[in-house]
Amino acid sequence: MTGLLAGKNAVVTGGGRGIGRAIATALAEQGANVLLTYRGSQAAAEAVATELSAAHGVKVLATQCDVRDSAEVDRLFETAKEALGAVHVLVNNAGITADTLVMRMSEEAWDDVVTTNLRGTFLASKVAVRGMLRERWGRIINISSVVGVTGNAGQANYAAAKAGIIGFTRSLAQEVATRGITVNAIAPGFVLTDMTSGLTDEQKAAILGRIPMARWGEASEIAAVVAFLASDAASYITGQVINVDGGLVTA
Ligand code: NAP
Repeated sequence: MTGLLAGKNAVVTGGGRGIGRAIATALAEQGANVLLTYRGSQAAAEAVATELSAAHGVKVLATQCDVRDSAEVDRLFETAKEALGAVHVLVNNAGITADTLVMRMSEEAWDDVVTTNLRGTFLASKVAVRGMLRERWGRIINISSVVGVTGNAGQANYAAAKAGIIGFTRSLAQEVATRGITVNAIAPGFVLTDMTSGLTDEQKAAILGRIPMARWGEASEIAAVVAFLASDAASYITGQVINVDGGLVTA
């Protein structure tokens, strides 16, 4: 197998649809074996796995894992070890939103969003890094959001979780920097997926009006940066947040 990631094994959380699906695709295209996870979308995730293994001649498997649950995350990495061997690349992509203004936000909406996005990233990274330390090589790539950088009215829970991911990324990067492991975050702008399909036409027009490139991002444009960060070509990049947003955030 040729490609930037030939011989590498990757875990992608939430890889059955949306941006996670594009990430699993980009990694497989570059020669990585991939274990992608789903919480509810079993059929979609298994279809992606079958399609990618056939198209790229690598092992791609799907397994259920709720990233909020440490026992399930432990089991995920046991499955990865049995099916693929050492995990070299972890992409923490699984995420949810539950948008509303703070004054109307339930504790449940806060907890669900923070637990899935932030705790899930912590739990998977904690297990992955143990194996990466043994390998003396690893790549952790966390999917944050522009909203974690700028904030967004109606998304305080999501913005707090995504900003938390940035602080987590920078901290873990420093903890493992001498061990051949890099930890970076990507802050995507707006990409049309199930997550954003509920926006009204008015909201979509307002978002579009703020994007210098005047278009939505493609999931493949996020995935291409993940594949680069996962490769040896990105060996001196760690603790960074890469905005992939059509110029939306320029600071
Ligand atoms: P999506 O289409 O709604 O997909 C979300 C994915 O997360 C699904 O694969 C889902 O799995 C998985 N997931 C949700 N809760 C989970 C849990 N508890 N355990 C395990 N997996 C879980 O969203 P997307 O737009 O592709 O977003 C992917 C990532 O990009 C998220 O972290 C999101 O915050 C981030 N992001 C998206 C945008 C955007 O504009 N779309 C912008 C910035 C950042 P199931 O299908 O099995 O439920």
